[in-house]
Amino acid sequence: MNTRTPMIAGNWKMNLNGAEAAALAAGLAEKVSAIGSPPVDVVLCPPALYLRSVVGKTDNTPIAVGAQNCHAGQKGAHTGDVSAAMIADCGASHVIVGHSERRTDYGESSAAVRAKADAALAAGLTAIICVGETEAEKDVGATEAVVCAQIAVSLPPQARAENAVIAYEPVWAIGTGRMPTIKEVDHVHKAIRAQLIAQLGEEQGGGMRILYGGSVKPGNAAELMAVTDVDGALVGGASLTVADFWGIIDAAR
Ligand code: PEP
Repeated sequence: MNTRTPMIAGNWKMNLNGAEAAALAAGLAEKVSAIGSPPVDVVLCPPALYLRSVVGKTDNTPIAVGAQNCHAGQKGAHTGDVSAAMIADCGASHVIVGHSERRTDYGESSAAVRAKADAALAAGLTAIICVGETEAEKDVGATEAVVCAQIAVSLPPQARAENAVIAYEPVWAIGTGRMPTIKEVDHVHKAIRAQLIAQLGEEQGGGMRILYGGSVKPGNAAELMAVTDVDGALVGGASLTVADFWGIIDAAR
């Protein structure tokens, strides 16, 4: 049994309209508030446009709100981007950086992810730093090497257990219904733990949460949460309904 508080984070991606986002946040706020102080950190990551609305619906509840991306700069000529400080100004406390969809769609390198994580920490946000191997990398047995190399570059040395979280998301498991075996998850999370300790020392590296992401559902969440170094989940598809996301939160508490 470890002392890390599990985190269940929902990545809504580019889904829902304003009314649907508000309704989902309100529904989850009601569920989570009903259990008082949940022994799990719940984070909702809506599209940036809906941050304020979701913050409004979850105010005075234990639910935190995060963005799905931020720019590495503080301000200036970056049309269409939002800074970490703007995210914080909207009342959010977290931001996902380095999601594989951004690494793929925008060619974000681990160095770019590191710059975004730096900006997030400087703005007082908690950075949820995503890493994960492609199917081709898995097939040649490179999973741990790839993931540890991503962490070596993406994770700022000033990160602490309180303000950074690693999300291990095998690219081939995202949105596909496919998953590594529990033994494989255990293996990779142990390798990540060793990498975090090597980079940040026993206290910070040992205390930092490592989430699993990739086709997490209410039906497989309990088994995943039982793995020693799985400290929660980053959830895509199953975070879009109250019933499914609540099922995953329930499995983690
Ligand atoms: C994700 O995109 O972060 C994710 C884990 O998606 P899904 O749960 O749908 O696989």
